[in-house]
Amino acid sequence: MIYEPLGIYKVKLPLPFRLNHVNCHAVKGTKGWWLIDAGLNREATIEGWRQFFEEHAIRPYDIKGIYITHFHPDHYGCSGWLQEYSGAPVYIGEIDADRVNRYWKSKNNILRALDIMYRDNGMPDEIVRETIGSVNNLIRYTSPHPKLTTLKAGQVVIIGDFEYQVILTPGHTDGHICFYNIDQGVLLSGDHLLPEISSNISLWPQTGADPNPLHNFLKAIDSIRSLNCKLALPAHGKPFSTIEERISQLEAHHQARLQEMKECVGSGATAYQVCKQVFRQDLSYHELRFAMAETLAHLVYLTYQGELKVTTKDGIDTYSQIKN
Ligand SMILES: [Zn+2]
Repeated sequence: MIYEPLGIYKVKLPLPFRLNHVNCHAVKGTKGWWLIDAGLNREATIEGWRQFFEEHAIRPYDIKGIYITHFHPDHYGCSGWLQEYSGAPVYIGEIDADRVNRYWKSKNNILRALDIMYRDNGMPDEIVRETIGSVNNLIRYTSPHPKLTTLKAGQVVIIGDFEYQVILTPGHTDGHICFYNIDQGVLLSGDHLLPEISSNISLWPQTGADPNPLHNFLKAIDSIRSLNCKLALPAHGKPFSTIEERISQLEAHHQARLQEMKECVGSGATAYQVCKQVFRQDLSYHELRFAMAETLAHLVYLTYQGELKVTTKDGIDTYSQIKN
């Protein structure tokens, strides 16, 4: 039990990455159980859920609803299995439901679009191939797909015996949502607000994806300030109550990173060159994908701010500083 007044349990599930776990949550109410986030669809996750269900004598039909904060495989992936197991509805924000269709259910389209985006941004052929391979690998962990029920920003949902507001917090994904219990000031923060690592902010290929995700993220973390939130239950790391302090740290982190990238760009560099300078050298292809998308999110943000410009030559995009 991680927060007794609301009946919230943490279900920590393993991930096969450097970031080695995801915290899902299970909420006990008088009429049954509700789950928040699902984990990757793989044996170790299912094992983890089965163990939790056994410990708490939860039968499949005790599970009344499954809420997903965002479409990433480590949150959404196992929701199809959980729905098959329980028959419960799976809820996700309406924007990320669209991303499930665009990305996970249209795998070839998104892999092709990513391939083009990496090449256009200066990534060498061999590395593009490996990186695309790692995305392809990850998509395996998202099926079977559940039937989704979509949620709108501001909607109120019942989880356990209490009401939560659906808070749209775009940035980490275009349609990321948090669940907020106003009475207790408790925020199920998903990947929007994490205690130790900064949420990855990824630019996706421009086939319907938001063109400036970092802008959205900075706006969305600022908006958390007005909630008067007392406790955040994040999807990675431990619960924390230093919300205001954490928001300020994240803002400072991104400002510093923007400055660093702007300096890296200098009189001309591709996103791939900037990525190689800013991030550690021993990244797996899985991590390189995040690093590259994060670099692009920052460079695009600076471009919107009028601090960088992008020029295309022989199909390759080069960023450079705009001199005042
Ligand atoms: Zn995520």
